[in-house]
Amino acid sequence: MKYKPFGTARVDLPVIGQGTWNMPEGGSARREAQRAIARGIDLGTTHLDTAEMYGAGGVEEFLGEAIRGIAREKLFIATKVLPSNASYQGTLEAAERSLARLRCDYLDLYLLHWPGAFPLEETMEALEILVERGKTRFVGVSNFETDSMLEAASYLRAVPLACNQVLYHLGERGIEHELIPAARQRGIAIVAYTPFGRGGFLRAAKGRAALETVARKHNATPRQIALAFLTREQNVFAIPKAAHVAHVEENAAAGSLALDAGDLVAIDEAFPRGRPGPLATL
Ligand code: NAP
Repeated sequence: MKYKPFGTARVDLPVIGQGTWNMPEGGSARREAQRAIARGIDLGTTHLDTAEMYGAGGVEEFLGEAIRGIAREKLFIATKVLPSNASYQGTLEAAERSLARLRCDYLDLYLLHWPGAFPLEETMEALEILVERGKTRFVGVSNFETDSMLEAASYLRAVPLACNQVLYHLGERGIEHELIPAARQRGIAIVAYTPFGRGGFLRAAKGRAALETVARKHNATPRQIALAFLTREQNVFAIPKAAHVAHVEENAAAGSLALDAGDLVAIDEAFPRGRPGPLATL
């Protein structure tokens, strides 16, 4: 597993982490998904992403169970406050609820899930207070356009804006035009969510063929090549979600792949970047 500096947040993170949206809610599928998370941690995918929104808090509880017994310092746990809770006081309270569900004393990263109606300055002030109180180590945003990401960063005084978590997959490369370079220039990490784009890019014949060619060369799978391509930039990380041990193993192994210039050109041609436009979200 490769590690890279997480923006200017004074920590190195694995290039591949684990998402948790839509984890199975019960029965043997839930237990398998928890085993998958633990297996991923063994393999180095220790950046665990969740949100108070997922399963209305149920996924934070699921994750809290999955990591029970694992040394806390091995993990990098990220969760998110809903915009509807993101007043100053609401953010402080939402963080406490998330901590209780995760059964943790502190978060590693706390994000505003998407821009909302409360003044951004107020939310950022609360995030900074949470750092000061030791409730989270780092703070960031999600689904923010370049301008609003920079605005959020400008409200932080004592800590940097660690990251912006955004949609990024081979079928949706719009952030390469402006957002990734602007973030890199200011030491802000980009965390790619939905890196498999719901599988759509794998169904496009031209793209599939290009990925398969590169995959054969590296003795890898098309999904692994996709993850390696997405995380090729210094400041970009990916958080695929997988509820099965075999999927987690496949994804984690992508964190050791190194693509060469020819591979990058082949993938770039098969999945064109497209024109600049508004930030894509789910
Ligand atoms: P994704 O990671 O692109 O895709 C997840 C799907 O891919 C699941 O069906 C999973 O199957 C399957 N999969 C994973 N690894 C696979 C493999 N090696 N082979 C075959 N299939 C595989 O989609 P996502 O869950 O939307 O995004 C990832 C994470 O990003 C989320 O879980 C969440 O933490 C975060 N996210 C954030 C936002 C935001 O607004 N900030 C929005 C969306 C997502 P199984 O689960 O059955 O293994």
